[in-house]
Amino acid sequence: MSDQNYYDVLGVNKNASADEIKKAYRKMARKYHPDLNKDDPKTAEAKFKEVNEAYETLSDESKRAQYDQFGHTAYQQAGQTGGFGGFGGFGGAQGGFGGFGDLGDIFGSFFGGGGARQTGPIRGADLRYDLEITLEEAAVGVEKEFSIVKDEVCPHCHGDGAEPGTSVQTCPQCHGTGQEQVVRNTPLGQMMSVHTCSRCQGRGKVIESPCHECRGSGKVQKKRKLRVKIPAGVDTDSRIRLAGEGGLGERGGETGDLYVYIYVQPHARFQRRGADLFCEAEVSFPTAAMGGTIQLDTLFGKVELKIPHGTPGGKTFRLSGQGLPSLRSDRKGDLNVRVTIGVPRSLSSEQRAALLKYSECMGDSTVNKEEPSFFDKLKDKLNN
Ligand SMILES: [Zn+2]
Ligand SMILES: [Zn+2]
Repeated sequence: MSDQNYYDVLGVNKNASADEIKKAYRKMARKYHPDLNKDDPKTAEAKFKEVNEAYETLSDESKRAQYDQFGHTAYQQAGQTGGFGGFGGFGGAQGGFGGFGDLGDIFGSFFGGGGARQTGPIRGADLRYDLEITLEEAAVGVEKEFSIVKDEVCPHCHGDGAEPGTSVQTCPQCHGTGQEQVVRNTPLGQMMSVHTCSRCQGRGKVIESPCHECRGSGKVQKKRKLRVKIPAGVDTDSRIRLAGEGGLGERGGETGDLYVYIYVQPHARFQRRGADLFCEAEVSFPTAAMGGTIQLDTLFGKVELKIPHGTPGGKTFRLSGQGLPSLRSDRKGDLNVRVTIGVPRSLSSEQRAALLKYSECMGDSTVNKEEPSFFDKLKDKLNN
């Protein structure tokens, strides 16, 4: 949005006639048109927009009247909120007057990645492949094989799209440049713009007899087997780049890359937080009370864990370096083992007697001394 008075933008005075405004507009638009002003395209682009914005209002009798009545700032604000019906703002380059659409088009092709750039080499697309691995594999690293279907250079025509032995000719429309110039009549006079050649799509060549394998596209879809080395310590959303395994480039552009995105499956026993692991280990009540040593399965094999006497349920032991390797440092994570106290579901009469004796020694009056019923025993059997 211009914050300069529209009359000043066009360099006319407030009483200028419609004809004078039109003339001034043509002069200014030509001066700042990005196709014609190559010295400072950024400034020219901004100026060009201002000039068009001013002309859009001043060339319309009723809009000009509103503009004169309310003043520049109020008019613009009303325009943005749609207050003065009909004033379309200027964001979308959809100006109200005839011919601006055309100018916008030239404008677009000049600035928006169009023109000469459209005919240059285009790098192939980067592709994504999602790969699922187990936590065990993430812990030590793994090499995986997988297949993807993607475009490859047609082996029959080696990518030029012509049946071997037939001719590939220079495009007669663009003479091999891949571009064509279009001259249009606009309110500014004749304007020239550059587009991708419609006959050859910018290749600069035309094929008389297309390759029967790829129908002239120069590419075929092929299943391709790939291997990827996954380093130890990867996590979900880690990605591994396979350079040059992505989509094919166009017009000599390089091939894109393939990104393998890792998904690490949840584990039944271990939870993971970064490089650290968490799990639970059950110890018997006598071991927790008197101390002992338990065997523990980690992702890297068995380890022994010393349980000190008097260990309460819920206590966590940290096994330093028994977690996952880190991708960013040499440091390994820890394994945090939370101890739970195992309670037998059912007892033999000998075990019952021993426990009753123990509770007597402890002066424990809360214990249930009754023999379990036949049904209780049956239930235990079914549950085990
Ligand atoms: Zn082919
Ligand atoms: Zn052409």
